[in-house]
Amino acid sequence: MSTARKLVIAIDGPAGSGKSTIAARLAKKLGYVNLESGAMYRALALKAMERQVSLDDGEALRELADGTAIELEPRGEGNRVLLDGRDVSQRIRDTDVTAAASRVSIHPRLREVMVGRQRELGLDGGVVMEGRDIGTAVFPNADVKIFLDADESVRAERRVLQDGSHSPEKAQRVLAELTARDQRDRTRLASPLAAAPDAVHIDTTHKSIDDVVAEVEQLVKKVDRR
Ligand code: C5P
Repeated sequence: MSTARKLVIAIDGPAGSGKSTIAARLAKKLGYVNLESGAMYRALALKAMERQVSLDDGEALRELADGTAIELEPRGEGNRVLLDGRDVSQRIRDTDVTAAASRVSIHPRLREVMVGRQRELGLDGGVVMEGRDIGTAVFPNADVKIFLDADESVRAERRVLQDGSHSPEKAQRVLAELTARDQRDRTRLASPLAAAPDAVHIDTTHKSIDDVVAEVEQLVKKVDRR
């Protein structure tokens, strides 16, 4: 399916709701680029860790971001992420960076920089961008806004399966991490994780990826015909 216009599609939701997989599949079907906004927070968090910049110092993080190049290169499933030209696609998925990204992303000054860059990436349309505040802060005028969610235990289970090795202890730990991250995302003052009033909610708990992609495709078709 290709669209007549180059739309902007915003997909938001908590960790493990299926955003990345669904955004990547949808972008492929539409011939759009898929951009993972979370990867930008992860990359900046990695640089802060390496440079020993405090994760609690919003001003210092903003300065760091101002002097940092973060590139997202869409590939099959997900993005290749370049931090000042270095490929950090794998490293930014590690647990320590995941926790650090969740901490740096609460700072309003840093978010200003990130949101500005994310807007530039979507200027020409033809993008599926996923994150926490895409429909509310980055592209409040997005053509299609989706808010994905799923039961907490199912979201944690998906994360554990992504990593390959499974044990009850690991499942417990992942659930605790995910809950803490969600809580921070939902309660921060600067563009918290929330559904835009005009977003379409999809609960993915009992749905297959194909079903959700098909559902979103129908929504895109409707908007494209207008
Ligand atoms: O989506 P992902 O898990 O890669 O995002 C990493 C972290 O970046 C999240 O835990 C969240 O705190 C933050 N984030 C954000 N706003 C976005 C995308 C991600 O605050 N648009």
